[in-house]
Amino acid sequence: MLINSIALLSVLGWTSAQATSAAHPPPKPTSSTEQCQPYSAPIVQEILPNFPPIWEPATIVEGDTTAQNKFDEIKQVLPSYIKPKGTHDGDFSAVKYDPADPDCWFTRSKCTQPKVEGLSEDLATLPEPNTWGLGFDDGPNCTHQTFMSYMKENNLTASLFYIGSNVLNWPYEAQQGREDGHELCSHTWSHHYMTSFDDEGAFAELYYSIQAIKQVTGVTPTCWRPPFGDIDDRIRMIAEGLGLRTALWEYDTNDWKLAMADTTPEDVRKNYDEVFDAAKAGEFDDHGTIVLTHEITGETMDMFMEMYPKIRENFEYVVPLSAATNTTNLYVEEDAEDGKVFSDYVYDVYGSYVQGPSSTNNDYHPQPTATGWEGPLATVANPTVAEVEAATPTKDQASEGDADVGGEGGSGGDNGSESDAKNNTNTKPDGKTRISNFHPEWNNNNSNNDGSSEDSAAVASIAKPLLTSSALLLVITTVLSS
Ligand SMILES: [Zn+2]
Repeated sequence: MLINSIALLSVLGWTSAQATSAAHPPPKPTSSTEQCQPYSAPIVQEILPNFPPIWEPATIVEGDTTAQNKFDEIKQVLPSYIKPKGTHDGDFSAVKYDPADPDCWFTRSKCTQPKVEGLSEDLATLPEPNTWGLGFDDGPNCTHQTFMSYMKENNLTASLFYIGSNVLNWPYEAQQGREDGHELCSHTWSHHYMTSFDDEGAFAELYYSIQAIKQVTGVTPTCWRPPFGDIDDRIRMIAEGLGLRTALWEYDTNDWKLAMADTTPEDVRKNYDEVFDAAKAGEFDDHGTIVLTHEITGETMDMFMEMYPKIRENFEYVVPLSAATNTTNLYVEEDAEDGKVFSDYVYDVYGSYVQGPSSTNNDYHPQPTATGWEGPLATVANPTVAEVEAATPTKDQASEGDADVGGEGGSGGDNGSESDAKNNTNTKPDGKTRISNFHPEWNNNNSNNDGSSEDSAAVASIAKPLLTSSALLLVITTVLSS
């Protein structure tokens, strides 16, 4: 299986590279044949002790008081009535769950409107008509060079949902995502079913994924997507406590199944075609949509590139989720680049004039450092730059996290100085309920989720990059013998 091989190379290569511990990193791979050559990046070696073992379900690292304090803060408001569900690999067969869906469990019900008052609604559809929300899960992937070039040539900006463990396996590829102007979001630390974790584990899965992205690319994400869409209100609250907006999807290409023996490219084309048929039928005349696509293998990326002309035929605009929702604060860091509101984005890319952000006319978005909102998290401060930097072992190491693709070290100097100002800037509560002023653009009716989800039990059996060290020996043997 290609997917197995990639996951294997990812973990194996990285592990062996760490063992040899080169004094200097090799040049950034450029040719396609070099892309998946493992390499050793100093930034990864230096920060590794601050992280849980890669690809393993996360817990708070011993002695990490910054993480512990943040968790303790969030824990106070977590609903004790929502218990962990099933196994990390998505076996929910033993779960007894109320059909009334008290937890707004997307896996079971496709629920995207939280039952806990004050929690933000998940993003699954988009307010702007005839708009395709562009996002790719499971990167950064070592085979993505052609794909990244394609996006650049076609002036495409995407929301990239990075797995923290992948970011440490492929740090230069992660840096390229930011360098190319894409919006970096979290896809957890080890890519397991989030509702299966206890509170601390779920926190750690998110916390260390955003830390990995921060340390490697220099920015702290404000968006995430749960693997397999496995989310309930307990997980939503932990994510929101970390300043992360939740993005799901309305349609699913199931492109990852290309790695399965029983799935052909034609099957996946049909999934894309369903979305195109809906567009032709006028389904998106009053809203835009998020279609789940992956950066997980070369095949999924090839499929997107094949389909892109058809996407353009059927949709007026293809935009990152931030632009689709007029979200300008992409990252916690105040000096990081801002996103564009929809009208600016489509003017810049398509030369189109639209009347302001048509259905959302606002620029309120979850300021990741905001405090004092109404709702259950009103007392929880979202991560600040100071906290993020505090998790960095030394200033030198933090400066290496700047987004200098392929470089050995950044210019430094983004450490903390702006955090105080940032902390004082977000006093927006205006007496409305938090859900309407937090990001009202997400308040669409998402009840028509008709895409099949990523949550089927079958998904658990596919070897997404889920290898644990205990599985390594087995896979090594398999590969060596194949
Ligand atoms: Zn995923």
